Amino acid sequence: MAVLGRQFELCRKEYEEAALRVLRSGWYILGKEGEAFEQEFARYVGRRYCIGVNSGLDALTLSVRALGIGEGDEVIVPANTYIASVLAVTANRAVPVFVEPDGYYGMDVDQMAQAVTEKTKAIMVVHLYGQAARMDAVMEIAARHGLRVIEDCAQSHGARFRGGMTGAFGDAGCFSFYPTKNLGAFGDAGAVVTDDARLADTLCKLRNYGSKVKYHNELLGVNSRLDEIQAALLRVKLRHLEELVREREAIAGRYLAGIRNPALLLPEIRAGANHVWHQFVVRTGQRDDFQEYLEGCGIKTMIHYPVPPHLAECYAYLGHHRGAYPIAEQYADEVLSLPMFNGMQDEEVDYVIESCNRWQGHQGVS
Ligand SMILES: *Cc1c(COP(=O)(O)O)cnc(C)c1O
Repeated sequence: MAVLGRQFELCRKEYEEAALRVLRSGWYILGKEGEAFEQEFARYVGRRYCIGVNSGLDALTLSVRALGIGEGDEVIVPANTYIASVLAVTANRAVPVFVEPDGYYGMDVDQMAQAVTEKTKAIMVVHLYGQAARMDAVMEIAARHGLRVIEDCAQSHGARFRGGMTGAFGDAGCFSFYPTKNLGAFGDAGAVVTDDARLADTLCKLRNYGSKVKYHNELLGVNSRLDEIQAALLRVKLRHLEELVREREAIAGRYLAGIRNPALLLPEIRAGANHVWHQFVVRTGQRDDFQEYLEGCGIKTMIHYPVPPHLAECYAYLGHHRGAYPIAEQYADEVLSLPMFNGMQDEEVDYVIESCNRWQGHQGVS
């Protein structure tokens, strides 16, 4: 069975009841389920407002727009991230300014501070792979320069930094509920959380044609709503999120204790941060060889991500070349995500560990 099917099986009855309840209600967009999910998710993250949208990318793009960031403004973004974080900036015709990663795959905060110019309007933080970023340093830099902070929490549902929930630090916390995310829906879905009443109000308008009152269009909005079926299903999964995270932690714990191969660099946890293990990412100088070897063992792995955004074809216009962000480029060549999903059996985890330990890497990590 595909891995997402296993997660469905874990709470099948509750999901089926929720979906049927919506189908029978006769109300499918912007209704009670969406409102209830927004309240429950806002409470979970510890913020006043939650605005459901159609995807994580829309959560990010509309947040950048609602904060008034546009043409010519600079936004600091990680050089090592999924491209969606950067697309949200360029969709608003703002300019992404890339910052190299540190050893925990988050932004290097010293370089972040150096990247600030008089055009900088915001910092886009990504809690990559499920590990909380250094929010103390980020918020300090933002306060010093009067910058907005947008958190990309697409991979970090429930992750904390020094006890504070990711998504509760910045002006806006942006979540994706794409099916493979830790809090995944059964289709596309996303949300923004914030404490700022004006920002929440603007986002409510932007997601619904720029209007709050039907046919009174105040803003150049879009159609980006969280539908009732996804909201009802997310309410079920949210109730189980903590146990789903604990299951991932247990898998990661077994990997960390069991994998002993000097050619593989294991993920580390930053002091003060916790990790919800959206991905378990290892590194090796012979990544492609390692991936092929695992494939031969019947173990499917993924690369997050093979092309750093500054080298993506769509960003050729920015004029960055290979060598511009060498650490991000090195990570793109060396990272590999081991299997990590809810419903993964102990025997399967042990088999991945044994296979990793049997691999004869030659040069180790560079
Ligand atoms: C998945 C993801 C997104 C985009 O979410 P979608 O719901 O697929 O649009 C944005 N940022 C990061 C870091 C992601 O992993």
